[in-house]
Amino acid sequence: MGLTLSNVDVVYGGVIQVLRSANLEVPDGAMVVLLGSNGAGKTTTLKAISGLLHSDLGEVTAGRITLDGTDITNGDPYDIFGRGVVQVLEGRKVLEHLTVEQNLMVGAHRRTDQAQVKADLDRVFSYFPRLPDLLKRTAGYLSGGEMQMLLIGRALMARPKLLILDEPSMGLAPILVEQLFEAIGRIKREEGLTVLLVEQNARAAIAQCDYGYVMEGGRIVLHGTREQLESNQDVQEFYLGFS
Ligand code: ATP
Repeated sequence: MGLTLSNVDVVYGGVIQVLRSANLEVPDGAMVVLLGSNGAGKTTTLKAISGLLHSDLGEVTAGRITLDGTDITNGDPYDIFGRGVVQVLEGRKVLEHLTVEQNLMVGAHRRTDQAQVKADLDRVFSYFPRLPDLLKRTAGYLSGGEMQMLLIGRALMARPKLLILDEPSMGLAPILVEQLFEAIGRIKREEGLTVLLVEQNARAAIAQCDYGYVMEGGRIVLHGTREQLESNQDVQEFYLGFS
């Protein structure tokens, strides 16, 4: 079933409307990318799904967000996390004074199945083979690429059903961007995970996705399969750098 946003409006502080009748679907097991220029409303969309608008004095004022048929509109973030929706926020928020290992275990803090936790840790290491060498390092001293791997690894330790990533490639060198997206694509395939991704780096993101949406001014203006996006002239011009 997956995630559905139907005609969703979001308003901040009771006055600033940012999302305008946004419609978006993330089917189970799919990887969906949300593209759009700065300020289009992409992060707002992700926060609306995860229940994180309240801390910004925002709320969904119209429309519905459902997860596997259950209404989660304006839901409690801890409850939504409990339903398997795990969001990696923009801006690399590792717990910088803790070690890499401690950060990873924070992702598993609600779990009691210790043997399975250990097996999941090994799977995270198979996706990000650099992490085992970094376990005792203080997370605040990692490079940007290492931090991003740690954040995705930490999210996987929570056993998500829907993994939400906000601009994971931000600030990374092109070679690292490619490696990161390959790892995300592999995780999605091997874990059967559903992934919703906001990304400026459209080329790398579209290459791994099943479907994509383009948002402008808080509205979805275009959507389609990977092939449809790649052959769309506006997407080529504005997001893929063709002219
Ligand atoms: P970016 O790529 O720059 O992160 P975005 O597409 O993710 O952009 P949002 O961060 O969702 O866009 O912001 C959309 C609009 O909402 C912007 O005009 C922004 O100024 C406004 N906005 C975001 N958060 C708030 C807030 N807490 N209060 C008021 N306006 C906000």
